[in-house]
Amino acid sequence: MDSRETEPTLAQRELGLDTLLAHACEDPSRFLGAVSPPLFQASLFAFESIEDWGDNPGAYRYTRVGNPTTEILERKLALLERGECARMFGSGMGAITAAIMSCTRAGDHVVAVDGCYARALLDGILARFGVATTYVNGTDTSAFDAATRPNTTLYYIESPLTVVFDLQDIAAVCSIARSHGVTTLIDNSHCTPYYQNPIEMGVDIVVHSASKYLGGHSDLIGGALITSEARLREALSHESTLLGAVMDPFVSWLILRGMRTLAVRLERHQRNATAVASWLEQHPAVERVIYTGLPSHPQYGLAKRQQRGSTGLLTFIPKESRDDKVRAFANRLELFRLAVSWGGYESLAAPIPRPLEGKSGHSTWRVRLHVGLEDPEDLIADLDQALRVLG
Ligand SMILES: *Cc1c(COP(=O)(O)O)cnc(C)c1O
Repeated sequence: MDSRETEPTLAQRELGLDTLLAHACEDPSRFLGAVSPPLFQASLFAFESIEDWGDNPGAYRYTRVGNPTTEILERKLALLERGECARMFGSGMGAITAAIMSCTRAGDHVVAVDGCYARALLDGILARFGVATTYVNGTDTSAFDAATRPNTTLYYIESPLTVVFDLQDIAAVCSIARSHGVTTLIDNSHCTPYYQNPIEMGVDIVVHSASKYLGGHSDLIGGALITSEARLREALSHESTLLGAVMDPFVSWLILRGMRTLAVRLERHQRNATAVASWLEQHPAVERVIYTGLPSHPQYGLAKRQQRGSTGLLTFIPKESRDDKVRAFANRLELFRLAVSWGGYESLAAPIPRPLEGKSGHSTWRVRLHVGLEDPEDLIADLDQALRVLG
């Protein structure tokens, strides 16, 4: 046989993540050869005739329901996450709200990992509508089983968490969920599909804050949900169009632009964070460093198994616990800016106090760092001069 016949063509090959990030769903032949896809900044789409309007169920009508620029991004994210389809939302919280509401009704029960971002929504709003939540320590897989009740409909996980970086064993949690007929949802904002593909481990619904690494430049807010076609059609179609967290086409266009460099950005974040974490780990003023890319992480083996890499996020615990000293450290930082959020090109520090009972006036502090794309030598020099106030 001619060997060429047995070699798969490019179209038949399963393309790698870098190629998908650069090219998937952006075929220039569809758009007059434009290498960058067009921005359809339109709220509505008109029809040639009333017949056209009536007979065309797949046509674009209104951007809250569908938009061609946003659809390019949805297709790309679905491919990257190994899901069947995706929906974009106006924020990560918009995607999370739609996802949780599609899986619950009054009287239902959720088991969620303690420390998840959705806690304020679950406790502050969904509880009022009769959805109760039990929080479990996600490092203990059997806790999900133990917390499950007859009315549990959803397991909500987030691995790794974004302050303490505890992991959940995603495949093991999913198999417990399946044994109870419970839906699984993961917030994959931290790892992005470049470092972790939860659907391949059995997760039903993946949500993202695109405001973090997907956008990558701290200049937009957006969210995404990836799942099966059947689930989107049957369970999520109302939530995704009626709850109002609508993606703006220009923001979709910006996220497409950001995602073209996701692979190179994440690899540099990882390299820089590894350098900073290793340096902090040997610093005399530092009690402990938590970074999923360091062998000292208590779940390093699991991180290696279910993630392809680690990001720019890490936390360190200073030995010093006096508030004024830790505040002085924060105020001395020059390159690291003091801010919430993460995932952009820039380095950030977020000192987080944790009150200790019976020890008034003192906290134990955790300092969450987002290590950006600057030179690691400069970032280490900045930490070095600021850490001097901590001894
Ligand atoms: C920021 C964040 C969210 C919320 O996303 P928004 O886009 O700000 O609404 C959800 N989950 C995680 C893990 C986040 O860090």
